[in-house]
Amino acid sequence: MKNKFSSENLFGSTFRLVALSALVLAVILSLNLFNQLKKEITVSILNVWAVIVLSILFSSMGVILIAKDILLTQSKEIRETNKELKNLAKSLRKKVKGKTKELSTIIENFTDGLIMTDSYHRIRLINPSAERILNINKKDFIGKNIDSISKESILSEVFYLFKKFTSPIPKTKYLTIKKPKEKVLEVTNIDIYHPSDKYIGNLKIIHDVTREKFIEKLKSEFISIAAHQLRTPLSTIKWTFRMFLDGELGKLSPEQIKFLKNSYKANEQMIALVDDLLNVSKIEEGKFLAKFSPQSIEDLIEEVIQERKVVLDKKNITFKFIKPEDRLPKIKVDAEKLKLAISNILDNAIKYTPSNGKISICISKKDGWIKVEVEDNGIGIPKKEKSRIFEKFFRGKKAALKDPYGTGLGLFITKNIIEAHRGKIYFESKEGEGSTFWFELPIS
Ligand code: ADP
Repeated sequence: MKNKFSSENLFGSTFRLVALSALVLAVILSLNLFNQLKKEITVSILNVWAVIVLSILFSSMGVILIAKDILLTQSKEIRETNKELKNLAKSLRKKVKGKTKELSTIIENFTDGLIMTDSYHRIRLINPSAERILNINKKDFIGKNIDSISKESILSEVFYLFKKFTSPIPKTKYLTIKKPKEKVLEVTNIDIYHPSDKYIGNLKIIHDVTREKFIEKLKSEFISIAAHQLRTPLSTIKWTFRMFLDGELGKLSPEQIKFLKNSYKANEQMIALVDDLLNVSKIEEGKFLAKFSPQSIEDLIEEVIQERKVVLDKKNITFKFIKPEDRLPKIKVDAEKLKLAISNILDNAIKYTPSNGKISICISKKDGWIKVEVEDNGIGIPKKEKSRIFEKFFRGKKAALKDPYGTGLGLFITKNIIEAHRGKIYFESKEGEGSTFWFELPIS
């Protein structure tokens, strides 16, 4: 609050009063001079000059006093602004200090390990979780360049999982360490860039997934054992049904044949499920692809189509296989597995396209890649299901109604097969209009 009666205010008002009086006096004296000149033209020039000098003196004094008054007021304002700025800086310093403390508390207590390097690849931060997970002491590493760390050090393994200067998009890889005890670590790499594209540094987030991986391994071992145990009796049942249906075990009534056919179909579905489960456990054990040899993709697709001719005709589906005029080069693939991937995509197109629908397979070559595209005009995939399509055991709501016997494993297996061939798989779909699945494989 400003004090109306402060000494500065009184001082200012006195000056203003004196300045004003000086001005008034100067005006009066000037008028007086004018009158004197008019009335007493005879007055001596000396007197006139004295009056002029005095008037100028008083006017100057008045101007000086006013200027001083203005200067005083301005310097007071500057002093006040200065004070306010100082207060602002103080409160900002306090806020920044508070935020920094908050941030460092979060980093210190973060359950995942965090390691940060600066733009010169010097280690700037290792939080306590990183020390615990990697069994290291941060004092041995802070300030050191990552290239100067011993190659035997666990930290070096963490850094060399990723190349330097990758993209700012986070990438995750797994690292298994053996000492002091076996651990599986999920390491996420984030390169940090300034909006002006300048590289600022790197952040590594280390998540200990040993327990999750152990449970996953147990589950997959259980599935593998169960599936192996089921496969043999199911095959025996299948061949017994087949013998009955072929009349090798005596003549059957039409009703008996009808029941046996249903049982045969159910048994086939069980075998397909067991096969899918065995494939999934092989994928998870990393033992899936075995026999790579040069193959013609057109021939593999032709084989898959031939095996589905009956069902395509039964559903009265208009089917097209579009291929380039010149034969495509052979590429090295695991023929059996790639046929399985193509079958899964085509079987889905057939399952999820109503009778009288349209399906086409198109194969082409571009920039060192072979592209295989399967298009249908079936039920399509709802927007909210799209992100889960390649997940293990995921089944769409409408898809499960249309085909209750699916396993939700087909696309998971297919994606793994394509990626194991260094390929990529994509899809586009609109609910109620149809879907297109395509994959690309490198020629060399
Ligand atoms: P499944 O077919 O046994 O359900 P998949 O893994 O092969 O399992 O497919 C997963 C899900 O993807 C399906 O349940 C379905 O919702 C969706 N899907 C796959 N292909 C198509 C397609 N051509 N048209 C519509 N939905 C599809």
